[in-house]
Amino acid sequence: MVDGAAVRTWLEAKGVKACPPCGSEDLQVSRDLYAIVCINRTTGGPDLQRGSRAVRLRCGSCGHIMLFHARQMGLE
Ligand SMILES: [Zn+2]
Repeated sequence: MVDGAAVRTWLEAKGVKACPPCGSEDLQVSRDLYAIVCINRTTGGPDLQRGSRAVRLRCGSCGHIMLFHARQMGLE
């Protein structure tokens, strides 16, 4: 479960207030972390040993999605 208050505090400290494409401030924080998985160069399939965890922000107006590295945000 993602700590939405901690995410919003971090976003505010970084100056992230609005959706880049449409300017809406309706940015919805994901409840769960998402996985960015590397593709294995040999098999072409997902390499579950490598990747990153991310918090997803979705604009409630235009649907634009932004991902932020969870560890860099201090969430893991
Ligand atoms: Zn938007």
